[in-house]
Amino acid sequence: MKNRNSPGLRILFVTSELAPLVKTGGLADVSAALPAALRHLGVDAKVLVPAYPPLLSGLDALRVLVPTNSVPGFPPLRLWSGNLATGVPVIAVDCPDLYAREGGPYQDSVGQDWPDNALRFALLGKIGALLSSAAGSLAWRPHLVHCNDWPAGLTPAYLHFSAGGKAASLMTVHNQAYQGIFPASTLGLLNLPPSCLSTDGIEYYGNISFLKAGIAYASHITTVSPTYAVEIQTEALGFGMQGLLVHRRDALTGILNGIDTEIWNPATDLHIARNYSSSSLQDKAENKRALQERLGLRLEQDVFVLGVVSRFNYQKGLDLLLPAATELMQLPVQLALLGSGEQEQINRLAPLARAFPGRISLTTGYNEPLAHQIEAGADAFLMPSRYEPCGLNQMYSQRYGTPPIVHATGGLIDTVTDCNPTTRSEGRATGFAFQHHVPAELLSAIKRAHSLFQDPVQWRALQLNGMAKDFSWDTSAKQYCGVYEQILKQDTGIGRAN
Ligand code: ADP
Repeated sequence: MKNRNSPGLRILFVTSELAPLVKTGGLADVSAALPAALRHLGVDAKVLVPAYPPLLSGLDALRVLVPTNSVPGFPPLRLWSGNLATGVPVIAVDCPDLYAREGGPYQDSVGQDWPDNALRFALLGKIGALLSSAAGSLAWRPHLVHCNDWPAGLTPAYLHFSAGGKAASLMTVHNQAYQGIFPASTLGLLNLPPSCLSTDGIEYYGNISFLKAGIAYASHITTVSPTYAVEIQTEALGFGMQGLLVHRRDALTGILNGIDTEIWNPATDLHIARNYSSSSLQDKAENKRALQERLGLRLEQDVFVLGVVSRFNYQKGLDLLLPAATELMQLPVQLALLGSGEQEQINRLAPLARAFPGRISLTTGYNEPLAHQIEAGADAFLMPSRYEPCGLNQMYSQRYGTPPIVHATGGLIDTVTDCNPTTRSEGRATGFAFQHHVPAELLSAIKRAHSLFQDPVQWRALQLNGMAKDFSWDTSAKQYCGVYEQILKQDTGIGRAN
């Protein structure tokens, strides 16, 4: 595939989250960063998103784009246009009946899914399709509509059933586990033909799935790492859609996410005690001391500090630490854990911290400054995810000279080069990977890391290899351009000539 810039290409990026205004996870970051990187390459990318209250109040240059409008089957709405601080243009679907609420994009303030989520995201999908077809009310019409995760999954379905002159579509799966499943009876609300309720349409084990709709009807599918693109075709990680994904494998590509290299830069990071770079790595030690001080860990310089910044849930696999703890704590290690998520996991990790005061610290909640301080202050970063579509923290940690110790899965395989005699002699090693998600293998990877840590010259080489890697969005955006061009070559829709 050619990696080249695509000036003049018009892309509509459909998403349910947009950083920094509405964020529950990595999708929000991608939705802000990828369109910005595409625009740097000359692509005319705009973002389509529901007009949740924080979104409308956070956009610059807000103006009404389409006044009160009606789409059959949905409450009245209008479209706003505005800009993110980065200059990325945003089209916001303002339907107060569906989006003007206190709470998150998918759930109310006590964590219950909004009962009308099917209708809420069907509207997003419908507007995505309308703006991408001859029925659209704007002069601007995309060549390709780029749909993200299940909330945007119906756009390819609506487009499929709409008449001529329409954009090509790309469905990106950021996490195959979230599928947007609703009872089959919901179909009546969606304004889609009954014929789509079939195994090669949106039917999913007697229900309907918005994600499946996207995968089934999009011109092409991407996911967020090459290895995850293979893994979702298996029973273990396809979450029931592996058959369809195997069927569509020729139209399935993996592209790694990038990271924000300005926010995650140890040379300029305002959250950390002392800035450093690959030419002043010795200054990293000051961040280790500051982290130990902040978290009440013993102020020992030679101890091996392992950092964790994570959501606490089944996917992230931190429960592996529990059976490993007794043996782990026989090593001269300290653990700095930061996370938020399932109370049950927190309740299981908390006694560990109590059992080893001064050696294990557990901080719960979402804490951006501490996340940066852990990346800078830890010696190594632990990421034992059971599965990981892409993962960001292992990329941040390499940039911060904090080699990651990871389970060999998904994007972790694609971004971390395991340290062994060959990779080390070739100057490629950047971290440590273990194959099976069992305590013994985690321990053995930590022991390998600790053993290298005792050789300062070798350890420094590992740090520098990671710090030299390019995880920028520019690289990913060029690959997306390649996929867009490939799709448009095959698609007979609006076409590049228009
Ligand atoms: P996921 O999107 O699956 O949660 P990623 O590693 O892809 O995992 O990205 C997680 C992002 O959220 C990273 O930017 C990470 O630093 C941040 N993060 C996760 N938990 C916390 C927390 N408790 N406090 C601060 N940042 C966090």
